[in-house]
Amino acid sequence: MKIAVFPGSFDPLTLGHTDIIDRALPLFDKIILAIGTNSSKKYMFSLEERLHFLKETYKDEAKILVETYSGLTVDYCKTKDSEFILRGLRNAQDLEFEKAIGQTNYKMAGIETIFLISSSGLAHISSTVVRDVMRHGGSYEFMVPEVVKT
Ligand code: ADP
Repeated sequence: MKIAVFPGSFDPLTLGHTDIIDRALPLFDKIILAIGTNSSKKYMFSLEERLHFLKETYKDEAKILVETYSGLTVDYCKTKDSEFILRGLRNAQDLEFEKAIGQTNYKMAGIETIFLISSSGLAHISSTVVRDVMRHGGSYEFMVPEVVKT
């Protein structure tokens, strides 16, 4: 059984995230959407809200499981019998950053990271931009799934 962990903050979930998740579905038997809890990080949305965004969006998708975790992503993967980490790439900065983490994770734990490149027209979307637009009262609706708009 091919199980992938898609780790992220999802603060909030965006159409950039759902693009990667939807396109990865045919590649794996199960995808665990895993919200990493980092106590030193400040979030705009509570853990409960971020869980709700993911659970509601994928409530009809049998292959998807939504969980939270703390600690190293590779340790979490082991507890879930997952041999793959799924990550999205928007641009060269993402690549450089993810490259080091992916190589480290492979050396540490033999876990492969599978990268999908943003679909055309979605690479500009990030949770950071969505949060900034929200804070300043701009229209962010075109960047997020239904559940984040309500
Ligand atoms: P993290 O804090 O771990 O980066 P994020 O929620 O920001 O968590 O991102 C989770 C994953 O989703 C990352 O692999 C990120 O590159 C990917 N991602 C976010 N937005 C996009 C997008 N527009 N296109 C492709 N991948 C994306």
